[in-house]
Amino acid sequence: MRFSDVRHQDRALSILRRALTSGRTPHAYLFEGPEGVGKELAARTLASRLLCDDETLAPDADACGRCGACRLVASDNHPDLHVIHRGLRKLHPDPAVRARKGLFLSVDLVRHFVIEPAGMKPTQGRRRVFLIREAERMNEEAQNALLKTLEEPPGAACLILVTASAGRLLPTIRSRCQSVPFGLLPPTFVAQELRSRAGVSAADAAALAGLSGGRLGVALQWQRLDVLAAVDAVGESLDALPAGDVEAFGKRLVELATELAKRARPGTGAQDEQPDTDEDEEERPAKGAGRAVPTDELRDALKLALALLAALYREALLVKVGASAICHLPQQQCRAEALAGGASLDRLDASLRAVSDAERMLDANVSPQLACERLAVGLLGELPV
Ligand SMILES: [Zn+2]
Repeated sequence: MRFSDVRHQDRALSILRRALTSGRTPHAYLFEGPEGVGKELAARTLASRLLCDDETLAPDADACGRCGACRLVASDNHPDLHVIHRGLRKLHPDPAVRARKGLFLSVDLVRHFVIEPAGMKPTQGRRRVFLIREAERMNEEAQNALLKTLEEPPGAACLILVTASAGRLLPTIRSRCQSVPFGLLPPTFVAQELRSRAGVSAADAAALAGLSGGRLGVALQWQRLDVLAAVDAVGESLDALPAGDVEAFGKRLVELATELAKRARPGTGAQDEQPDTDEDEEERPAKGAGRAVPTDELRDALKLALALLAALYREALLVKVGASAICHLPQQQCRAEALAGGASLDRLDASLRAVSDAERMLDANVSPQLACERLAVGLLGELPV
């Protein structure tokens, strides 16, 4: 793994290189920035460098890539590289923890998989590296429990907290970590990568790059989920609105989200790069039985559908102000024109706010159908008679 494989993140890389050159690698890093822009790749590259057995390397050089340690890191088998994620609860010794749903990185997980091993000598290397995915999912109790380890880290531990929502971490956690900020990637780069890695057509690559807002990992995931086709379906759900049929709109959007959630499930090939997915066998829909997907997955999929809806309204806004040349979704030109033609600028703006409100409702545990119905009311701008 080479630092140069982490593209367009010069600021982050220079922070990492400076620390390596000085020989004083912090004990705790906070890799923060949008989802899908290379944070985990950078974390693994750093881990690989810290664990590499070649002691003749220049301080800021890449890991050698050939030694036993490098090979173990590459195959995800190094005993001193601990990747922490919610799915680990299934390996916890306590059956009560194993039985949990796993929305959070609970204090039990953090104690068992981070705090305790961080206090032990490395198994084979010079140090232990902990890569904590979705660090913001540590609940308050877990974050508080981790403070001491961050404050007085056992000598050989390096903790890399990775998050797209650093604001959800306690200030006391953030202040104990060296911040490494990651930014959005240039859309042209994202489009190029989509074409070379996934064989996407130029037009679709440009659309996905624009839709994802410069988040390559997200764009690749959306390509696998066939999100561009989902934009069509989201647009069609709007057809129920003029008749004021709030319930039908909600039902269609929830059905669409259910479809997206099913496609995103592990084993469908859609999440190959996310081996830690949070599947609950007990909640898995029986094959062909048409059972509902777990609620948290449905919510995530519905948020994606809402993001697509927001994208349609943003396109409509661009059309409205005469800027259709910079639209991301030329395939949706007709839909955007229709939306723009039937509404004032204020109304389009209010519609975008209604979509954000619906996202917040989902975060606040409002049921998907109800959130969609309220969204419909917001989009209509008045209560249907
Ligand atoms: Zn090596």
